[in-house]
Amino acid sequence: MFNLPDFKDHAPVIIDWIDRYFQNLESYPVRSQVSPNDIYKSIPAHAPEQGESLEEILKDLTENMVPGITHWQHPNFHAYFPANNSVESIYAEMIASSIGAQCMIWETSPAAAELEQRMMEWLSQAMGIPEDFEGVIQDSASTATLTAILTAREVATHFRSNEDGVPAHLRVYCSTETHSSIEKAVGISGIGKRNLVKIAVDDQMRMIPEVLKRQVEQDIARGKVPCSVVAALGTTGTVAVDPLKPIAEICEKYNVWLHIDAAYAGSALLLPEYRWMIEGIEKANSFVFNPHKWLFTNFDCSAYFVKDPDSLIRTFEVLPEYLKTKTRGLVNDYRDWGVPLGRRFRALKLWFVMRSYGLKELREKLKQHIALNQYFADQISDQADFELVLPPFLNFTCFRLKPEKPGDPQEVDYLNERLLDRINQSGQLFLSHYKVGGKYVLRMVIGQTYVQRKHVDRALSVIRSMTDELLNTASSISKDLN
Ligand code: PLP
Repeated sequence: MFNLPDFKDHAPVIIDWIDRYFQNLESYPVRSQVSPNDIYKSIPAHAPEQGESLEEILKDLTENMVPGITHWQHPNFHAYFPANNSVESIYAEMIASSIGAQCMIWETSPAAAELEQRMMEWLSQAMGIPEDFEGVIQDSASTATLTAILTAREVATHFRSNEDGVPAHLRVYCSTETHSSIEKAVGISGIGKRNLVKIAVDDQMRMIPEVLKRQVEQDIARGKVPCSVVAALGTTGTVAVDPLKPIAEICEKYNVWLHIDAAYAGSALLLPEYRWMIEGIEKANSFVFNPHKWLFTNFDCSAYFVKDPDSLIRTFEVLPEYLKTKTRGLVNDYRDWGVPLGRRFRALKLWFVMRSYGLKELREKLKQHIALNQYFADQISDQADFELVLPPFLNFTCFRLKPEKPGDPQEVDYLNERLLDRINQSGQLFLSHYKVGGKYVLRMVIGQTYVQRKHVDRALSVIRSMTDELLNTASSISKDLN
């Protein structure tokens, strides 16, 4: 066991370890290259009876754990969506974990509750979210969406579902492209996945409002109760933006809770030129975006905004004797604003990030990523054997290898899949994939905090050389076969 007085000796050793980690980061393979169970087998089967030294633990961390880490902060991490951090948010996390406050109610740390309230106001002003929305920090967008669906369920059933159970006739709508967290939330909420209706998308992967309207009207005619629509502002596969305004009008007309999932692309609202994405938000009921994805605030930190906090609180409130306080009603007790009782002091890292960057620098950083993405897309589209599958948007490009003599579509898919495997096995960058209109495509996201043009050039050069290798191998195999 380590003692508190040792802290001042140990802490610099940890800082030194972290510093070396950052120094070495670019030399590590971006995606871990270990095989299943390698790490598990390297860990002793039983906990040590006698405590071990910090030195021994750190040695094992470096030698046995680091090879099993996929380095999300590597500037050439371009897979999925980023979960970027920054030195500012790391400092805040260190302090928050040292303070170790459990921020379930105002009394258990007034500063945490009031800073959270203020940080949500700062964010909503900076992003153009209407003033009548109030915010709360959740751990993830999945939790925030569950929170929205549960609240919508209570509103649609006049707050009876929590008491009596969920009636079978509620319906939830989202596009075929929305994130799996919607399906999960609809299942958990008791509404039932069979009552989740996936609405068709257009050729830009956006929900088609006319199809939504028809579906809602048909359901009402069949005695169903439309409970919630989830609009995606930046889908996971292709960052498509559902047309909010017509969707919001449908929700208003039929009195349906409109939740906006802007988990990733929401950060772009800091840039006024992207505010068109939330045209119609004044008619929405809730909105989520993740500062832990593309706002330099390390995981986890999800900002959930709701127009009517009373419905939210009424959905989640329980009041056991041991949590009764004299300040009730005067302050925000955030335990009533979501699923968990216990809450971390997450507002601190937003405070550090927003204060140390300032909004201007945050905007600059986002713009830099968007410009790097445009550069990447231009370079890819200049190469005859690649195609852009969709126009580049924000810091996301969706592309694929398009051989000169296109063969069987399945073969082209397979070629792209092999290209992705090669790229990722090289360890030099990490991309992920998706399917657009049935076609296998590669996704490139440029959102690491410290990414620069040289990293994008490196990505381009690895993609080029892996492609050449692959095409050469493919052509020599086909020659051999002939
Ligand atoms: N919504 C969208 C559009 C996403 O892309 C993701 C994750 O990538 C989520 C929700 C879920 O986010 P979280 O991991 O915070 O639950």
